[in-house]
Amino acid sequence: MHAGRPVVVVRFAGCNLSCSYCDTPEARKPCDTADVLGHSGATTIENPIDIDEVISIVTGRFPDSRNVLLTGGEPFVQSEAAVRLGLGLRLKGFGIHLETNGTLTPESKLARIAFDFVSMDIKLPSSQGGRRLWQEHASFIAFFKGVQMAAKIVFDSKQLAEVKQALELIGQINPHLPVFLQPVYHGDSPAMDSEVLVEITRQAQAMVTDVRVSLQMHKILGLR
Ligand code: SF4
Repeated sequence: MHAGRPVVVVRFAGCNLSCSYCDTPEARKPCDTADVLGHSGATTIENPIDIDEVISIVTGRFPDSRNVLLTGGEPFVQSEAAVRLGLGLRLKGFGIHLETNGTLTPESKLARIAFDFVSMDIKLPSSQGGRRLWQEHASFIAFFKGVQMAAKIVFDSKQLAEVKQALELIGQINPHLPVFLQPVYHGDSPAMDSEVLVEITRQAQAMVTDVRVSLQMHKILGLR
């Protein structure tokens, strides 16, 4: 939804899942230190970091930035911290976007006002060793209904039946939720014929009102 918009990325360590296509395995475990990377160089600080210190780093090191993306790992493994950080940076005038796997619904209702935009994944069972997460996703979508949000489904051509199940689930809870269909990448290319992608996108329109194809822009641009 916001592809191409410049952001400061804050990456949370730790994740409750183990996706077969995970491209940030190093972010799935808590770590002793955090790297702060920016135009003025890199520094390393000890974890855990207090939320006020994160706010001070973002405002001090990136004064010209307008948007902050909270991602992981999975930010809602530390949901209280993610909500406090979102609220704190919003009060400083930043637009806050959240990337989440959409399986951990936060306890605090404040989460509904902590983020300007929530991008959730729908995880297909065959990407999770057979584990079905439909109920977790349904609770998450219902909790954030009314908040600016979109769902992303990452899949390959063997998972089309599960993609349809995911679309049906979204259609039952919030059919107007924008849905991004993103093919799994092998190396720098989508691991799927474009005809398959076009056909599943065409079929998706019967289940949800706003479906879009999503490609991995950083790979197209050759960014790492
Ligand atoms: S939810 Fe994200 S960080 Fe966690 S295993 Fe899946 S892809 Fe990796």
